Amino acid sequence: MLRTLLIILCVYWTFKFLRKMNQPTRHHYAPPHATTGTSQAMTELVRDPVCDMYIEKTTAIFRSGNYFCSETCAAKFKS
Ligand SMILES: [Zn+2]
Repeated sequence: MLRTLLIILCVYWTFKFLRKMNQPTRHHYAPPHATTGTSQAMTELVRDPVCDMYIEKTTAIFRSGNYFCSETCAAKFKS
């Protein structure tokens, strides 16, 4: 009698464990898609005074009141 009860409990726990293992993977897929749309609308373009190129404000390098496309342009502006 006790043995059969233990076997039933063991089966129940393994099923519970497997359910817990499967659940987190489902939740990971949803969030990244929702944020991409808003970040694209927020992008602002700034002009590089050295090479006259327009770059995204988020990727540009800010040095002494100006935005630059790369470290080399920022160094050129100083000299
Ligand atoms: Zn540049």
